Amino acid sequence: MQKIYWHNDRFMVYQIKQLLDDNNIPNFIKNEFAIGAIGELSPMDIMPEVWLTDAEWQPKAKQLIAQFNQQTTSETEPWTCAECGEGNEANFALCWQCGSQRGSEQ
Ligand SMILES: [Zn+2]
Repeated sequence: MQKIYWHNDRFMVYQIKQLLDDNNIPNFIKNEFAIGAIGELSPMDIMPEVWLTDAEWQPKAKQLIAQFNQQTTSETEPWTCAECGEGNEANFALCWQCGSQRGSEQ
């Protein structure tokens, strides 16, 4: 299994799940109800996550998510590293995977 996407806005996570479903990529959501819990857990600690049932789908899924992000890019959205293609949360200034600076893709 492979975590492919996560966001503190459950609506965004559902959009990604729908995107993967539309492309017949097996996936499921973890922490689906984390944000609904009554403020005991920080949304930054536990966010809804989209997981791939099989990691072999990861390249295809990342490509789809990158395309999706390009359509919805803003400062409050997750971003995709131009160097390594890794998905990053909106509040990350540097890619967590390779350390490249955000914005090099623009
Ligand atoms: Zn990177």
